[in-house]
Amino acid sequence: MSSIAPKKIAIIGAGPSGLIAAEHLATIGHAVEVFERMPTPGRKFLMAGRGGLNLTHSEPLPGFLGRYREAGDWLGPVIVQHDPAALRSWADTLGQATFIGSSGRVFPEAMKASPLLRAWRARLEDLDVALHLRHDWTGWNEAGALTFDTPDGPGTIEADATLLALGGASWPRLGSDGGWADRLAEKGVETVPFSASNCGVEMAWSPITQDRFAGAPLKSIALSLGEERVAGEAMIARYGLEGGAVYALSGPIREHLAAGEAVTLSLDLKPHRDQADLARWLGRARKGQSLTNTLRKAGLTPQAVSVLRDAVPDLPRDPDALAALIKAVPLAVTGQRGLDRAISSAGGIARTALDEGFMLTALPGVFAAGEMLDWDAPTGGYLLQASFATGLAAARGIEAWLADD
Ligand SMILES: Cc1cc2nc3c(=O)[nH]c(=O)nc-3n(C[C@H](O)[C@H](O)[C@H](O)COP(=O)(O)OP(=O)(O)OC[C@H]3O[C@@H](n4cnc5c(N)ncnc54)[C@H](O)[C@@H]3O)c2cc1C
Repeated sequence: MSSIAPKKIAIIGAGPSGLIAAEHLATIGHAVEVFERMPTPGRKFLMAGRGGLNLTHSEPLPGFLGRYREAGDWLGPVIVQHDPAALRSWADTLGQATFIGSSGRVFPEAMKASPLLRAWRARLEDLDVALHLRHDWTGWNEAGALTFDTPDGPGTIEADATLLALGGASWPRLGSDGGWADRLAEKGVETVPFSASNCGVEMAWSPITQDRFAGAPLKSIALSLGEERVAGEAMIARYGLEGGAVYALSGPIREHLAAGEAVTLSLDLKPHRDQADLARWLGRARKGQSLTNTLRKAGLTPQAVSVLRDAVPDLPRDPDALAALIKAVPLAVTGQRGLDRAISSAGGIARTALDEGFMLTALPGVFAAGEMLDWDAPTGGYLLQASFATGLAAARGIEAWLADD
């Protein structure tokens, strides 16, 4: 039995941040209505599920929080309050046990999002959360009511508190297109322009690499840009390179390109092999063999050899020079992919536009959470973790604000 005076709360956006806030607020007894422009909820969440649904990561919190770079300062306490262990326990309560993969990433055993989302929707229904689909939020009318385009024409809703959980600006066809940014800026909310994050990079492959190896993985590699080095894997695309190791360098690549600087990534095709040892081995193995054969025997896949030849068409015969090249293949980046196919976006509502309870200071009673806030992180479960944690933090902010009202 709830001891609070129930209030009506409008949550706009049925992604993970909006739905977790809905769950919390309905659990403590408020009347919650969720509005979503798409015909079904959680489309980006389901898309994340195609890659196994990397919910969070198991690395210790200090390292974990470092993944958010500058935003780690303010996201840190929020994530500590709803940490990876809490997220895993929550998934458990929905019948979705999780496991830690070999890379430390955390996945549900089902390796997809649909069973979790189904169980979550059932729980929200039990909590009497009303879900209004095909309701496209368009702003506020002069009386301050929320306005929507609905299948039945324009409509308005009044609420005691509103949570905007509209997502970032990547993969717009899944529903979150960042169209809200101008609307909020007009209301005096400080926003930071969007840019693509966790996205592929463009490079000029030869027709052979493009035609024969697009879609082929480069496993167990390391990519570096300046001092930053990321071990992991990448995937050859017709346009260039994509995958976890590339995504992790999105931020620094974006900064260099924006400053008009040339970007050359350094690809280590044998990160676990010492260069001197590799040179000795190449010196012994080369005798009487074609260079391609030697490279294959050194453990380079056909796609790795193709990438190597694209980067340096006239490969050195000298074992020391060849080993050095295998450990640091120079890959010139010609551009970064756009928001359309980026995993996430940087930019959005500035932290300074929010108070401690995630309320927009320019719009009392209106809160914001999830990827629409200006933070960014690499793939690895950090995006969903912060979306869930900020959704809950905003729900607690609403709870406290309504209690003071
Ligand atoms: C291909 C892909 C794979 C990913 N994989 C992972 C992963 O494995 N791990 C991970 O941590 N993260 C992953 N992410 C990122 C993760 O899915 C997002 O960070 C997360 O979904 C953001 O949650 P959110 O609730 O803030 O926003 P969203 O999930 O984007 O939800 C926002 C909702 O608001 C709705 N909306 C927007 N505008 C309006 C409006 N005007 N009116 C009504 N509704 C509106 C949208 O339709 C959408 O449903 C992936 C993303 C992509 C694109």
